[in-house]
Amino acid sequence: MYYILALLPLKVQQLLPAHCRGGIDLKLRFWGTRGSIPSPGPETVKYGGNTTCVELLLNDGTLILFDAGTGIRNFGAEYLKQNGNHQINLFLTHSHWDHIQGFPFFKPAYKDDVNINIYGCPPTYNKLHDILTNQMESRYFPVNFDELKSKIKFMPINEGSHPIGSATFSFIENNHPGTAYGFKVMEDRKHIIFITDNELTPPRDRATKWEQFVEFCSAADILVHDAQYLEDELKNNSGFGHSSYEQTVELGLEAGVKQLLFFHHNPGRTDNEIDVIVDTMQKKLEGRRTNMTISAAREGQEIII
Ligand SMILES: [Zn+2]
Ligand SMILES: [Zn+2]
Repeated sequence: MYYILALLPLKVQQLLPAHCRGGIDLKLRFWGTRGSIPSPGPETVKYGGNTTCVELLLNDGTLILFDAGTGIRNFGAEYLKQNGNHQINLFLTHSHWDHIQGFPFFKPAYKDDVNINIYGCPPTYNKLHDILTNQMESRYFPVNFDELKSKIKFMPINEGSHPIGSATFSFIENNHPGTAYGFKVMEDRKHIIFITDNELTPPRDRATKWEQFVEFCSAADILVHDAQYLEDELKNNSGFGHSSYEQTVELGLEAGVKQLLFFHHNPGRTDNEIDVIVDTMQKKLEGRRTNMTISAAREGQEIII
């Protein structure tokens, strides 16, 4: 029966009581996987052109969203169509444009029966209201933030473990200009880690060391990690706050990750190029002692663990 339930659309599963969804644990869905700027077109159909937005549904039905890039627009439309549970927990990794620019187009924010908790890490937590308000100033957008009808609360995520719904959350500071945060979600024995906009080995201003990322990602069931550049490209983009595919693979191997997904795809990267890179990275694993799988996160992709 649970196998049949897993075939139902995510929003339909979400409406079922938790005991009816037993056996179905964490559910991840990608609504935007692209970095920097939306990149629609015939060459980005497979992996998608929308910027960062990832949905995570916990076993108790708690709904989590990571980031409000342009992918959040499609999520919002689907959420309203499926008459979702009217409680949205939005985690913002940081305030760079590609991670917040979808919020003004997030239709649930305009509904008076929707509650939205927006989570941020120190030190950006205190600035979240200003960040979202400023991008909706009349110079940039016709609707003011204060005109949104939903009940929006700004919530801090503190150091250590933070219970939300049936999971606990913790964060790590990324190496990224202006600061960004990666999140770990633990439910039962399942670990999902989402780290976008992170330069694993920056030339300077290192907030977090390689070994700390390895520890944070240790034995993760799923690691979604920034992989904007090839190693050759990184030489000319050092200090921009992003990692190479090669570094991301090494992190996954060293941390004993089960499933690695490349994320924050370079806006200029075509579907074919990503396919070739994934194939190349998979070949590099041959001869290494690992069961880790490698793929690139795809807009619309859903993973249930
Ligand atoms: Zn970004
Ligand atoms: Zn960024």
